Amino acid sequence: MTVRNAETMMAARELAIDCLEHRADAADIAAVEAQLGRYPRGMVAVGARCVCGRPLAVVTRPLLADGTPFPTTCYLTSPEAVKAVSHCEANGVMREYNTLLEQDEELRARYARAHASYLAFRHELAIRLGDSEEHIVSTSAGGMPVRVKCLHALLAQTLIMGEGVNPIGDLTLRRVADEFSPAVCRCSTRFDAAHSA
Ligand SMILES: [Zn+2]
Repeated sequence: MTVRNAETMMAARELAIDCLEHRADAADIAAVEAQLGRYPRGMVAVGARCVCGRPLAVVTRPLLADGTPFPTTCYLTSPEAVKAVSHCEANGVMREYNTLLEQDEELRARYARAHASYLAFRHELAIRLGDSEEHIVSTSAGGMPVRVKCLHALLAQTLIMGEGVNPIGDLTLRRVADEFSPAVCRCSTRFDAAHSA
């Protein structure tokens, strides 16, 4: 358990350092603004990109400039991914995953570790950005650590941290594969400052 905790902390630190070394530039912010239809407040970095270079999910700082605590550190921005996951949610997949969690002790343990990874990552960002975590210190996202409440947030964690961290995010990624995959560009958002692959 101790080794695993150390690995979680180290992975969180490396990811936070990587995000801060590759901060979002004006083109990234414009791309996400076009995807969301609003300015992405507190955006630190693009955490995952489509093969075409467009952002899929972004990393947001723990405390926005106006003092608003922001627990959803890993935020899904790709309209195609959002839509695909919304179809999943509409089809009762969350209920299915909640039942899986109730029945599978090992899955519950892995999901709890995904929660710990999420908090560790945000903590590493908070330290480096000087952001207070006062109001969100044990709050992650998506219903973690014991429920599934938002597959968008869980998929964002899988896209940013990679497969093998959040088992429900991983299941979601596989479930939406016909509609969304980071390896297959289905992007439709238009903006001038697109990164070219
Ligand atoms: Zn694309």
